[in-house]
Amino acid sequence: MDLTPTAKARAIARRLHAFMCAEVEPVEPQWQRDMAALDDPWQELPIIADLKTKARAQGLWNLFLPDAELGEGLSVLDYAPLAERMGRSFIAPEIFNCNAPDTGNMEVLYHYGSEAQKARWLQPLLAGEIRSVFFMTEPDVASSDATNMEATATVDGDEVVLNGRKWWSTGLGHPNCKVGIFMGLTDPQADRHCRHSMVLVPLDTAGVRIERMLTAMNMLDAPYGHGQASFTDVRLPLDHIIAGPGRGFEIAQGRLGPGRIHHCMRLIGLAEHALELACRRSLDRTAFGRPLARLGGNGERIAEARIAIEQARLLVLKAAWSLDQHGIRQSMSEVSQIKVAVPRMAQEVIDLAIQLHGGAGVSNDFPLAAAWTAARSLRLADGPDEVHRGLIARLELARYRN
Ligand SMILES: Cc1cc2nc3c(=O)[nH]c(=O)nc-3n(C[C@H](O)[C@H](O)[C@H](O)COP(=O)(O)OP(=O)(O)OC[C@H]3O[C@@H](n4cnc5c(N)ncnc54)[C@H](O)[C@@H]3O)c2cc1C
Repeated sequence: MDLTPTAKARAIARRLHAFMCAEVEPVEPQWQRDMAALDDPWQELPIIADLKTKARAQGLWNLFLPDAELGEGLSVLDYAPLAERMGRSFIAPEIFNCNAPDTGNMEVLYHYGSEAQKARWLQPLLAGEIRSVFFMTEPDVASSDATNMEATATVDGDEVVLNGRKWWSTGLGHPNCKVGIFMGLTDPQADRHCRHSMVLVPLDTAGVRIERMLTAMNMLDAPYGHGQASFTDVRLPLDHIIAGPGRGFEIAQGRLGPGRIHHCMRLIGLAEHALELACRRSLDRTAFGRPLARLGGNGERIAEARIAIEQARLLVLKAAWSLDQHGIRQSMSEVSQIKVAVPRMAQEVIDLAIQLHGGAGVSNDFPLAAAWTAARSLRLADGPDEVHRGLIARLELARYRN
């Protein structure tokens, strides 16, 4: 197993690092203050649009897409360290057009979309002109079991009709959000994994209503946050179904492999950032006559955090390598392993950083409270830990069944 990035990926990593240092990191604290001062935080500040234009002009754009013409043609393994570098910042992924859930939605359109769907939605998404959401989870059913989804996508002549309610739709409040991918029940009699369809729904279609925006641990996460929407007799032409009726499950599985690698690598970046802040703070501040780093077991805990980050990174790179070499079907256990291990690791490392910052750690003067919330939330988003552990155990035990 060779985890070395290619020369091309290394060159992009150097340029990305330079852009982050010169353009993104210096403006992020001010961006945070400006966002906090807004009465209506569901807007894109001009600085983000400016940085997107600059990043695109420098070829730091759509790096996630494994297509040499539309992106840079990087493998998942090559992209992983770039996602880590972006993950240190809350705004960077959007600046490089590499933010969830748009990346996953673009990959769905890239792999499964018709030419007309690509022209109408993939092109503006790739250009960063619009944003999108993924409508799967529902308030009324346990959505960690995707076969539970009750909202309907009923074929009626040459139309598909959507009804139901979705929540935790990340990105729904963003002013540029124009389209969603809706997972709905089409044929309740079909095989369990062929009942649902994925339908492209423009958000300005009659019958689509944003009911409210949700807080995660009391944070709105604007302008990227999560919303609840209802769908009442939403009628769309049949050609809005992606890849045809009944293929929702298959598409969902393909979507989540690379997406989980991206999420995990971004979280490793966030954990690295937290550990750096923890080290700086604990060397700079003194209590009881010594720097905080030299008190009690703090040095030991910093060492454990370093070990945990290194272990997690190697596991994610292994999963990325496996995805590139063998595809998602042969990499299910690896992808679920990182989805359990990395958010847990990040949560613990960020918690250590919060503790070493004292009261400042839970304030908004540092990005740690938001970072902790992101790590904690990822133990639920894209499937709770238990579901992934269940899958890992099933695959493990299957090796020994007679
Ligand atoms: C910040 C955030 C962003 C999100 N973004 C999106 C998005 O963009 N689009 C979208 O569609 N959804 C999104 N989600 C929703 C997320 O995917 C769901 O919350 C998740 O799949 C769990 O579904 P649920 O909330 O219905 O929990 P339930 O299914 O009700 O599960 C609750 C709990 O039951 C337990 N449990 C469930 N299954 C098992 C099992 N097999 N074994 C043991 N225990 C089990 C677990 O403890 C689990 O946490 C997001 C969620 C969060 C928090």
